[in-house]
Amino acid sequence: MHELGIGKGDEVIVSALTFIATVNPIVYVGATPVFVDVNSQTWNIDPEEIKSKINKKTKAIIPVHLYGNPCEMDKIMEIAEERGIHVIEDATESLGAKYKKKYTGTFGNAGCFSFNGNKTITTGGGGMVVGNDIVRMDHIKFLVNQARDEAKGYYHPEVGFNYRLTNIEAALGLAQMEKLENFSEKKKLYNQIYRKELSDIECVSFQKESEGAESSWWLTCVRFDKGVDVNVIQSELKKREIPTRRLFMPVTEFPPYANLKNGTLKNCHDIYETGLCLPSSTRNSVEDIQYVCEAIKGLLK
Ligand SMILES: *Cc1c(COP(=O)(O)O)cnc(C)c1O
Repeated sequence: MHELGIGKGDEVIVSALTFIATVNPIVYVGATPVFVDVNSQTWNIDPEEIKSKINKKTKAIIPVHLYGNPCEMDKIMEIAEERGIHVIEDATESLGAKYKKKYTGTFGNAGCFSFNGNKTITTGGGGMVVGNDIVRMDHIKFLVNQARDEAKGYYHPEVGFNYRLTNIEAALGLAQMEKLENFSEKKKLYNQIYRKELSDIECVSFQKESEGAESSWWLTCVRFDKGVDVNVIQSELKKREIPTRRLFMPVTEFPPYANLKNGTLKNCHDIYETGLCLPSSTRNSVEDIQYVCEAIKGLLK
C-alpha cells in the first residue's frame, strides 16, 4: 500500500468477507476501504461489484483468494488495467493455488503471503511480498529494514519500518517450502474426502471454484441450509472432540469499519451465517477426516 503511494483521500476496493489483516493496511496508510460483496458460490470478490464501486479516487483492488480458492483474476486484471488501478493480491491462504495454470499472487502488482503458524507453511510469524517490478521489490526490502541505506552505513533517507523477516525465520521458511507440495497434496485430498463423503447430504454445500481455478483448499469450509443452526453443529462436533471454526465475520461488523458499510453485503453475511470451517490441518490423518464426516452425517440424518 505504502510502496504504491496510496494514502489519504484514496480508495481501495476489498471484499468484506476476509481476515482483518487484509483490510487494516489500507487504514494504516490513511486510505479508505470500500467494501464490496462476494459471489455466493465462490465466496470471492465479485468483478461486477468492483466495477460498480470504481471512481476517480479508486487506487487499488485487493482480491483475496479466500480459503485458498482463486478469484477470477482475468476479469479483475482487465478491469484494473483498463483504468490504471493497482491490484494487490492477498494470496496468504492460496499459496500453491493456480488460476488458469498461473500461481495466485503473480497476477497483480504485488502478491502478499503470511507465514503465521496457522498457514500452510510457517516461519512462526511474518510473511512475504512478491512482484515482478524489481525496483519496487528492492524498495520494499529497503523499507522493511528501517529504510537503511546499507552503502552509507546507518543512513536512513526515508521513514522505514521494522517489518523484516529475521534470517532465522527465513531459514525455517526455506525448509518449510520443501514440504509445501506434500502439505498441499494433503489439503486437496482432505477436501476431496469431505466432498465425496458429504455429497449425499442435501443441506450441505461447498465453496465452488470458478472456471480455470485450482484451489489450494487451505481450509475446507461448508455451508448449511438456512434451517440448520451452525452453532449447534459446532457445539455437537466439539462434544465429539472435533474443533471447527466459524467463517470470517464480515469486516464491517467490527467497530473500526462499521461506519464504512454501504449496501447490504448480503452474500458476505449469508455465507458467514451458514458456514463452518472443518478440520483441515496437515497434521490430521485421513481417518480423522473420515471421523469428522461420519459425525456430520450422524448429526444431519
Ligand atoms: C492470515 C491471513 C493474513 C495475514 O495475517 P497476519 O496476521 O499478518 O499473518 C492476511 N490475509 C488473510 C486472508 C489471512 O488469512
